[in-house]
Amino acid sequence: MDYDAAFAEQLDGLRGAGNYRVFAELERRAGSFPRASRWTEDGQVSDVTVWCSNDYLGMGQHPKVLDAMHEALDRCGAGAGGTRNISGTNHQHVVLESELADLHGKEAALIFTSGYVSNWASLSTLAARLPDCVVFSDALNHASMIEGIRHSRAECQRWRHNDCAHLDELLSAVAPGRAKLVAFESVYSMDGDIAPIADILDVCEKHGAFTYIDEVHAVGLYGPRGGGIAEREGLMHRIDVIEGTLGKAFGVMGGYIAASKTVCDFVRSFASGFIFSTALPPAIAAGATASIRHLKESQIERVRHQNRVKIVRDRLNALGIPHLPNPSHIIPIMVGDAHHAKMISDWLMDNHGIYVQPINYPTVPKGTERLRITPSPVHTDADIDRLVEAISEIWSQCRLARQELAA
Ligand SMILES: *Cc1c(COP(=O)(O)O)cnc(C)c1O
Repeated sequence: MDYDAAFAEQLDGLRGAGNYRVFAELERRAGSFPRASRWTEDGQVSDVTVWCSNDYLGMGQHPKVLDAMHEALDRCGAGAGGTRNISGTNHQHVVLESELADLHGKEAALIFTSGYVSNWASLSTLAARLPDCVVFSDALNHASMIEGIRHSRAECQRWRHNDCAHLDELLSAVAPGRAKLVAFESVYSMDGDIAPIADILDVCEKHGAFTYIDEVHAVGLYGPRGGGIAEREGLMHRIDVIEGTLGKAFGVMGGYIAASKTVCDFVRSFASGFIFSTALPPAIAAGATASIRHLKESQIERVRHQNRVKIVRDRLNALGIPHLPNPSHIIPIMVGDAHHAKMISDWLMDNHGIYVQPINYPTVPKGTERLRITPSPVHTDADIDRLVEAISEIWSQCRLARQELAA
């Protein structure tokens, strides 16, 4: 068998569908984000403005974060030295976990090497080991949650996205004695919509279900201390497990769960993805701690973030550029075709030095391909001018439909 040909054929399939992924090669510049250098294959380097980063608040270049990382790197060296079981539990991990427990008002927290791993390891372990467990998974849950649930081999039922009545119906049909785990997100990253968390919790409490929320796109960004949507709405104490990332708004890397002491101890003791993997470097943990501490006190970043988002939305509205309305910081500009989305993205990059990655299947359903714009506090008014003018220009060139202006 020609193995290479078998792989190449499937890659050709992706190319034909317009879904082949091409990465932009960037060099981020600390201190001048959202500016970055872009490297092209011919060895050229040019300036770009990044409009699709998940470093939502620019914390990846915050002096407090960098200082904490430099200090820990010089004091502790590069790596953690092992898994947490075997010589890898560093002081910085313990400090970070207590910071996270405090952020979410929980007894404990447990960190992982990424948000993906935290979802995968926690959900697979919880669902596999709860007796006769049925998992109820929101239809738009992230791949890391889906894979974790699948790996648990527990029975899984998908409830229609954000549909509490459907969740209630499904939960009602399950024998009362069975363990029930309900998994959902707060801010959904591609549509930017927000779950009706209080209503979901009402349903879960009625049925005695165990609740697991992914707040990856909300931690640092919402709530008076950056605890996420559940903090903003005063609901953290009603949720059993709150999961988050240290890699998006906190600007560093890693993932975590915050929960009761028993739940964290349970995942720590049984989750393969935690036990058998080298711990985060101490410098990363120290940087994340500094970032969380800063965002617990400072509102400046969150206020300016929301202000930038509103301005971009208003400007797009004024030009009739269609984007999904939602109550979050994510601005999906709907294109609806994979080839088109990629072409527009390439054009913005090549002609205006504007980097917005196209989002294609399987990240979003076919026919809903989009440009996902994520304004940050460090985008200036001039950056916004350049972005909306460039989008308007390509919209005209491609004769894409505009929305009627609201009267
Ligand atoms: C990005 C993401 C994750 C994974 O977090 P990482 O820290 O990037 O691994 C989990 N859940 C959702 C909803 C995400 O968008």
